[in-house]
Amino acid sequence: MRRIFIAGNWKMHKTIGEAVDTVRKLSYEVKNVTVRDIAVCPPFTALSAVYEVIKDTNIKLGAQNLFWEEKGAYTGEISPLMLKDAGCEYVIIGHSERREYFKETDEIVHKKILAALRNELKPIVCVGEKLEEREAGDTEKVVERQVRGAFSGLNSNQMSKITIAYEPVWAIGTGKTATPEDANKVQKFIRNLISEMFDTALAENIQILYGGSVKPGNAKDLLAQAHIDGALVGGASLNPQDFSAIVKAGL
Ligand code: PEP
Repeated sequence: MRRIFIAGNWKMHKTIGEAVDTVRKLSYEVKNVTVRDIAVCPPFTALSAVYEVIKDTNIKLGAQNLFWEEKGAYTGEISPLMLKDAGCEYVIIGHSERREYFKETDEIVHKKILAALRNELKPIVCVGEKLEEREAGDTEKVVERQVRGAFSGLNSNQMSKITIAYEPVWAIGTGKTATPEDANKVQKFIRNLISEMFDTALAENIQILYGGSVKPGNAKDLLAQAHIDGALVGGASLNPQDFSAIVKAGL
């Protein structure tokens, strides 16, 4: 039985003080939730301070990005070693905003996954189609290209450390959510693809999250779907009441 995993992507929001305040409130709200995995992904500057608040709680720490080298002359980049050092267990890789604004390709995503795994960080790998790709009927083609580009060449042990987030780009930050049935269909397609690339048992165990305007009001229906094992939450994760309501949705 797969556990539900709710992860919050704070994007470029919150000063250190705001982040600490948010996570203090959140940890109080979710302290009794033992049956779900919970993580927050603050901006780099707030990682250590947030870790100090959550290190003895049921909330895990994640980063939003990393560079693929451990150290070196890469001005402005953050290495997997630094994220481990700050207390991270997870790292988001290949978010559509990174693909769109920072031109991250499937090849870059793959290199970042390997760097995370080398340093015992668990990647949360985002895939998803744009609106024009969906309208052209290319959703599965696009998602398959991203999945193969990210994971081809990994062994089963490496793949078992991965969480996948299916995030249709047109649903991120727009208030438009894929219907639970539509999201479930694509997520089933991804699971079948993982089964074909690796093996069925691995595919059955892998957590596939949905992301795209998840809110307290739609979380329960999304999480009720057979192939939706959690949510990657942007906007609604900034508010501890909203995020805790999503964490507890359907319980
Ligand atoms: C995200 O940032 O991954 C996301 C899904 O954002 P939102 O929930 O705001 O659509």
